[in-house]
Amino acid sequence: MNYTCTRDNGISISASRAILAGIAPDGGLFLPEEFPDVSPDDIAKMLNMTYPERAAYMIGLFLTDFTGDELKAYTSAAYSESRFGEIPAPVIDIGGESVLELFHGPTSAFKDFALQLLPYLLTASAKKQGIRHKIAILAATSGDTGKAALEGFADVDGTCICVFYPYGGTSEIQRLQMTTQQGKNVLVTAVKGNFDDAQSGVKAIFTDRAFTDELKENGVRLSSANSINWGRLVPQVAYYFSAYCDMVNSGTVKFGDAINIAVPTGNFGNILAAYIAKLCGLPVKRFICASNRNNVLTDFIHSGTYDKNRPFYLTASPSMDILISSNLERLLYLLSGRNDAEVRGYMEALSKDGRYTVSQRLHSAITAEFACGFADDAKAAETIRRAFEQRRYLADPHTAVAIAVYEEYRRSTGDCTPSVIASTASPFKFSRSVLKALGRDASGSEFDLMNRLSDISGLAVPPRLATLRDMPERFTGCIEPADMKSFIRQGLVG
Ligand SMILES: *Cc1c(COP(=O)(O)O)cnc(C)c1O
Repeated sequence: MNYTCTRDNGISISASRAILAGIAPDGGLFLPEEFPDVSPDDIAKMLNMTYPERAAYMIGLFLTDFTGDELKAYTSAAYSESRFGEIPAPVIDIGGESVLELFHGPTSAFKDFALQLLPYLLTASAKKQGIRHKIAILAATSGDTGKAALEGFADVDGTCICVFYPYGGTSEIQRLQMTTQQGKNVLVTAVKGNFDDAQSGVKAIFTDRAFTDELKENGVRLSSANSINWGRLVPQVAYYFSAYCDMVNSGTVKFGDAINIAVPTGNFGNILAAYIAKLCGLPVKRFICASNRNNVLTDFIHSGTYDKNRPFYLTASPSMDILISSNLERLLYLLSGRNDAEVRGYMEALSKDGRYTVSQRLHSAITAEFACGFADDAKAAETIRRAFEQRRYLADPHTAVAIAVYEEYRRSTGDCTPSVIASTASPFKFSRSVLKALGRDASGSEFDLMNRLSDISGLAVPPRLATLRDMPERFTGCIEPADMKSFIRQGLVG
């Protein structure tokens, strides 16, 4: 299976090259030329598999230049019990709805699913391509990607990793997770501005030919750990199939019946992975795209006009504080019938005017698949409180946005299709917001708060969050977006 580019159908490269490159030279994103066909029989086979087996099976359909044995070895290491617990992606019934908990990995957010695996895929890809350069991973983060990428790549031979996070734009625990990162090959800095500034800076570096050539001459080759990298998305496709299997096994869904999937969305990666699962054969009726107050996607899905010219808000769900949702480009490409010229036009308008309006045909294609809505912080807090009081379910602020939007969707449409809501982070990463939402005392250190939340909920504090208290902060710098290149030059070339 080969990969093409959202802005140029003429491109056709192998999976390992697409993963290594991260983004196409013209700024476009890679997608498979066609999607694998997962038949009901194939899904039936997955019912009795373990999570690493399901993941290896699904990922193998996309990454055809890796052998089945290679992928099985990677997924059993990446999703081992020591990293993810006994059940990596459990589906929990919260009284009518199913929640797919994706936060049991080492950094307590869903991004571990991709970023625990990506180092194996990337280093193997480099080997397959005969590349001797050191691979430098660049990541812009709104909070969770950075830590997950650091944890995945720390001390991985032949790689180094450089993370940019928006100053003041993450939760305190998210910040500490990154600034205390151990490892010889890691670099972290805050950047003045918001996530979009950091992400645009990283994207510009990838497409800066003179700079990437300069790095290459110094033995360094850049790759991306953001969800623009296809290697980030494909492991996420697997957990939607896994969730479906679990829902069938528990009797929540009849085999073959469709489900709805609700996802708290920022960069549109996680929900796009769900849509790709459907393109492969997962029975899904509707996708519910949930945003926080930065509701650029809600407005887009309603109106067909994407407009990033609007105020940017810092919210209680920082990993969704995004105004440029990169992976939407992949959806536009797929739903426009792989019309690369059309996508190029939209992306040029986005970078020139900050806005574009899609054709009526494309807009109808989007609304046929995607419902949407948003929940501000007050609404999310009210949802956290209600979910805990009525269902004894403790949701983090991101998950709460999805629960709120899903409930509103169900109320307004009457659509009672069995549904799964993606739960993307541990509530302990956001203890202060969660305690406030529950109407409890939210004063004290982050560590006092985690313990208080544990007492109230009866859930254990994730050990890797508790131990942050004793770890020295290694990276306390903050730079201007314009200095990202020189930060990389100094850090990587020396
Ligand atoms: C990254 C993140 C999101 C948004 O996911 P996208 O793939 O960027 O849409 C939602 N919730 C949490 C906790 C995250 O870390």
